[in-house]
Amino acid sequence: MSDRDPDCLFCKIVAGEIPSTRVDEDERTVAFMDINPATRGHALVIPRAHSANLLEIDAEELAATVAAAQRLARTAVERFGADGVNLINSCGSAAWQTVFHFHIHVIPRYEGDPMRLPWTPSPGDPDEIAAAAAQLR
Ligand code: 5GP
Ligand code: ZN
Repeated sequence: MSDRDPDCLFCKIVAGEIPSTRVDEDERTVAFMDINPATRGHALVIPRAHSANLLEIDAEELAATVAAAQRLARTAVERFGADGVNLINSCGSAAWQTVFHFHIHVIPRYEGDPMRLPWTPSPGDPDEIAAAAAQLR
């Protein structure tokens, strides 16, 4: 974690050097609308301090950002009448991260909206699931 990365797009948004449509902020976080919304109301919540991703951010900053995401999710349900909300974080380019300043997508969901999971769930091999679990323990 550092206060600021001079080459980071979202650090520039925090500093107000690049315009954004802010919807919430507090001492540690800023929330603004995503320019490529998946659904109506799609916003991003970021810590003011720069951390590249989920693996780097410290726990206190993470907790503040998650709390701000929860606040925005509640507001989206109240103001848009959203039927649900997805919180999404991508960590690393293999996981589709494209901006390397930690952020949580807050995506209001509406019954019948066109957003879909990017994979088709199908049952896994139980032995392989157990082997993976053993590696995680
Ligand atoms: P990621 O792909 O890293 O999970 O998410 C990055 C998000 O940032 C994308 O959804 C993208 O639309 C959004 N984004 C990229 N550049 C800008 C920008 O300049 N302004 C805003 N508001 N959102 C941006
Ligand atoms: Zn940054």
